[in-house]
This record gives sequence, C-alpha cells and structure tokens, in this order.
Amino acid sequence: MKHSVDVETKRRAISVDVGGTFTKVALVDTAGKVVRRWQEPSERQIASSDVPQFVVGIVQRVLRDSGLSKEEVVGVCVGIPGVIDRRTQTIISCPNLTNWEGMALGELVEETLGLPTYLEKDANEAALGERWLGAGRGVDDLICFTLGTGIGTGIILNGALYRGSTGGAGEIGHIIVDKDGPACACGNPGCLESYASARAIVGYARDAVQQGRATVLAEMAGGDADAITTETVFTAAKAGDPVAMRIAADAIEYLGVGVASIVNVFNPAMIILGGGMAQAGEQILVPVRQIVRKRARRLLAEHAEIVPAQLGNDAGVIGGAYLVFRGEGVALEE
Ligand SMILES: [Zn+2]
Repeated sequence: MKHSVDVETKRRAISVDVGGTFTKVALVDTAGKVVRRWQEPSERQIASSDVPQFVVGIVQRVLRDSGLSKEEVVGVCVGIPGVIDRRTQTIISCPNLTNWEGMALGELVEETLGLPTYLEKDANEAALGERWLGAGRGVDDLICFTLGTGIGTGIILNGALYRGSTGGAGEIGHIIVDKDGPACACGNPGCLESYASARAIVGYARDAVQQGRATVLAEMAGGDADAITTETVFTAAKAGDPVAMRIAADAIEYLGVGVASIVNVFNPAMIILGGGMAQAGEQILVPVRQIVRKRARRLLAEHAEIVPAQLGNDAGVIGGAYLVFRGEGVALEE
C-alpha cells in the first residue's frame, strides 16, 4: 500500500469509523486536528456486494463537501468494530455488521478510489489516537480499553500496536472470568463482556425493572425500561438507588479484575479507560484503581497508571489518520 507522496500538497487523511449504529467520518490533518466531520447511519442491512460502494460513496462525499481533489488526500482508513485478518486484510468477524464479514474491504475501496486505504479494528485505532495526542502521549507500553456495547482494547507494546499473529489480539472482552457464567454474544459462557459491558449492565438493569424490584431506574428512563442506558444506571447509583448501586458495583468489580489480569500479563505503564461507559469518570476509575491495587501483582500494579481517555469520540478517527500518515511516510506535525 506504499505510494509516493508529495508532502507539500498532501496534508489530510480521511478517517471512516464504522460503528454498529453510526458511521463517523473525519478529515484529519497531520497535526491530528479534525478539520471537518460527518456522521451517517451505518448500513447494517446492506448487501455484502454494496459495502465497498457505501465506503467509496462516503469518501467521495467528503472530497466533494470539502472541495479537495484526490491528489490532496494522503489516504483513507476504515475502522471496523470487528476482527481483521492482518495477513489478508479481510474482515473476519464483525457481529454488529455481519454482511461486512469476509470482505477484503481495504483493497476493494483502494481499487475503486485510487487512494491508499487501510483497514483497522476500531479499538486499535483508539489506542493509536490516544497514544499520539491523548492520554498515552510518550507512553510505550499501554492498553487502551474502549468500554462500549462490548469491551474492546488496543495493545501498544514497545511503542507499536500489537495485533497478534493474525490480527485478533486485544479481545479482552472475551477473557473468561467465570467458566460457567452467562452466555456471551460470542457464544461462550462467562466472558468479561457478559458482566462489565454496557450491553450487560443495561440488561441487568432491565431485568431488575421487569422483576418489579424497588428502583428509580425505569422512572429515570421516562417510564420505559427499554430506554435505560449505562448513564441511567450510573446516575441512579450515584443518587443512592440500591439496585443501580449493586449493578454498577458488580460490573465495576468484574472490570477491575479484568484490568488486574491484563496488568499481570502485560506489565503496562498505563491503562486508558475510554468509550461511552468511561464517561462515568471517577465513579469507575476510583474503584478500578482500588481493585487493581488489591488484585494484581503488587509491583506491576504500582507501575500501571489507570487514567481516563482524553480524545473522547475522536480517538478512533485520529488513530486512523495516524495509520495513514505513518503508512504513507508523511511526517506528523508536533
Ligand atoms: Zn465472549
């Protein structure tokens, strides 16, 4: 995917972050600044054969809206909420967008557009973004958690993204915390995600409401149990609702032991907690730090700083732009 680049004219990358619900698109400069952004619904029901054109159409719209020619763009990065085989650059697992599976999307988009196109797991992009311009600046060994519907991570070791032998590294949401636990979306019982992801927390909250337990959760969600989010749960917990407090505390405890296990395996200098759920801030950070101090090996826990992400929703698109610039040999601005 190497192309010769005239750094005098080419200063922008187009980063397409495909989520389960929305696709976020950003035009990013070599300083990592988001120059302009777009958002549209992800095509979940799209036929597989139309997926490349969906992405191509987005890039063409960005070029049109921003008045840029292809020659003024270094390349494109497409971030996917799934596993990519690094050897074939093929999407091998994408539970929220199953029609996108089996596709060598980067190659197909690159052929049509004539622009270098990279394909990356979204959690890896977030880790790269946070290391470039966010919480992980200057840190060579870090694990960046994206706490969302599921739990994703990007692993940076010795200053480089670690993808594993086939590209699947970082599936920390599926470490097994109870061999006989509840079924996970991946099909296995007892994964960390079944206890500590947004999907799990919201599920436990709705169950509590349906069981008629005394809680303000449904009322806070406008009387509709289906409208409960993790924010509802954490806000209710903060306000002292006993059911919400229990659900939040259990989820955080599982998250904490998951992080402690990762600290024991990788001895990172930093753990970054990002993603929608991490917006609960200190409510999650403080207990996770306590659990890690208590449950991870002492010397490792002492050296693992646990911090909030700094780039919010932009971490992924910024990390995607970083991949494009680095891959195409474009110097980054300080
Ligand atoms: Zn799982």
